[in-house]
Amino acid sequence: MIKDGWEAVIGMEVHAQLATATKIFCACPVQTGGEPNSNTCPVCLGLPGALPVLNKRVIDLGARAALALGLEIQETSVFARKNYFYPDLPKGYQISQYDKPFSANGKLTIMTAERDEHGHAMEWRPMTIHVERMHLEEDAGKNVHEGLPDVDRYSYIDLNRAGTPLGEIVTAPDFRTSWQAYDYVNHIRRVLQWVGASEADMEKGNLRCEANVSVRKVGETAYNNKVELKNLNSVRFMQKAIEFEIERQIAAHESGEGVVQETRLWDEKNNRTRIMRSKEDAHDYRYFPEPDLQAVKVTRDFIEAVKREMPELPDVMRDRFMEVYGLSYPDASQIVANKDFADYFETVARITANPRLSANWVLGEFTRELNSAGRQVRDSLMPAEDLAELLTILSTGSINNNQAKEVLSEMFATGKTAPDVIKEKGFEQVSDTGEIERFVDEVMAANQANVDAYRGGNDKLFGFFVGQVMKASEGKANPKIVNEILRSKL
Ligand code: ZN
Ligand code: MN
Repeated sequence: MIKDGWEAVIGMEVHAQLATATKIFCACPVQTGGEPNSNTCPVCLGLPGALPVLNKRVIDLGARAALALGLEIQETSVFARKNYFYPDLPKGYQISQYDKPFSANGKLTIMTAERDEHGHAMEWRPMTIHVERMHLEEDAGKNVHEGLPDVDRYSYIDLNRAGTPLGEIVTAPDFRTSWQAYDYVNHIRRVLQWVGASEADMEKGNLRCEANVSVRKVGETAYNNKVELKNLNSVRFMQKAIEFEIERQIAAHESGEGVVQETRLWDEKNNRTRIMRSKEDAHDYRYFPEPDLQAVKVTRDFIEAVKREMPELPDVMRDRFMEVYGLSYPDASQIVANKDFADYFETVARITANPRLSANWVLGEFTRELNSAGRQVRDSLMPAEDLAELLTILSTGSINNNQAKEVLSEMFATGKTAPDVIKEKGFEQVSDTGEIERFVDEVMAANQANVDAYRGGNDKLFGFFVGQVMKASEGKANPKIVNEILRSKL
C-alpha cells in the first residue's frame, strides 16, 4: 500500500532471450554451461575484421514476440552501435537498435489485481500498457569473479553468452503499483513462452527485468528523480524491491533529503535495495548506425505469414473458454496458465462434451497428480483422450466419483487406460437388471418387517433398502438401477 497523497511511477525494461539455436550474428550455438569461451568464434569474440551476419530466425521469433505483445513491426529497422567500455563486451560496443527499433507503439492489455496482506489477489481488472518498443540486440559475455575480495580475488571473462539474441521490451512509465509491474512481467513471460519466442525463465537468466521507479505527490505531472532497479532474479523479488523503493523514496522526499538518480540492487538477505552505482557513471553511448549490417526490411506478407502461424493467444483463449464452455474467470485463467495445459483441457472437453466436468477434473485431480509427481503436461503418461474416456465412463454412472479418482491415480502412474484399470480394480458395476433384481428380492425377503413398514408409509426406510442391496452386491450394483427396481418392487 502506498502512503496517502503519494503515487509511484514505474516503467519496465525487460530483456528476453530469443529461443534461437544459434547466436544473432554468427553460427555459434546458444547453450548454457559448457567450457568457458568454447562457444565462440571471431565474430562473437569481436576479433578485428570479423563481420556480423544477421540470423534470420531472430527476425522470425522477434516478430512472434512483437505480435504477442501488441507491438507494430516496423517496415525498416536499423542496427546501431551502442558504445561503452566493459570487460565482457569484446568489441567495445554492443550491436543494438536505437532510433529505428524492430517494433514500436505497442498496446497490451493485461489483467492485474492488488493483493491483500496475505498476498491474495483482490479484484482482477484489465489494464492497458503502452509498450513503447521492442528492439533486437546482442547479449554481452559474463564476468566471473572468484575468491575473496582483497585477498585472492580473480576475475575471468566467459564469452559463451556474447552474441545471444535478445529482445529488449520497454514500457512507458504506466505502472502505479508493484503488483501491476509483477502482473505485467508474468503476463509477458507467459505470452513469450506461449508463442515459442523465448523460454523466458528468470532463474536461468533468459528473462531479465529492470524497473525504473520514482514517486511524486498525487496530482503532480512532472517526474521526480528515478532509481533503476537491476539484477532482479525473480518476479517476486522484483515486486518486493519496487515496494521497498517506493517507501524509501517517499520517506526521503518527506525528510527533505531527496532522491538521488542512481542504480540500485535488491539485497535479498536484508530485504532492502542498496546502491550499485550513481549517476556520475552515466554513459553517453554515442549511438550510430552499424555499418556492417544492412537495414532490416520486413514485408506485409511476412507479417501476415507469422500471424497465421501464431497460436491463439492465452487471453483470447481464456475469453473463449468462458464464452463457449461457460467456465468462470478464475478457472479459465488457471487453465490458460500454459499452452500444453490449455490444449489438454480443450481436448478433454471436446471429447466428453462436458466442459465443466472436464475443467473440474483437469484443475482438480489431474493437477494434483502433476504437482505431486513434479511433472509437466507434456511428460504425463495419461493423454487427454484417456482422461476423457474415464470421464465419459464416470458420467454414465457405472463407477462413482471416488472410484474414478482411484482409477485416475493408477492411469497417471502407469499409463494404463480407464477400462483396463476399472477391470483390474473390480470397479465394474453390475448394470444387469436381472442380477440386481435377485439382490433386491433377497433383501426384501430377509427384511419383511421393514417392507411392511415402508408400505405402511415409512418412506425413510427407502435408503435402508438401497444400502442393503448395495451391500449384497459388494458395492458393485449400479445405484440408479437399484433405485428403479426397488421403487417398482416395493
Ligand atoms: Zn560466434
Ligand atoms: Mn539492452
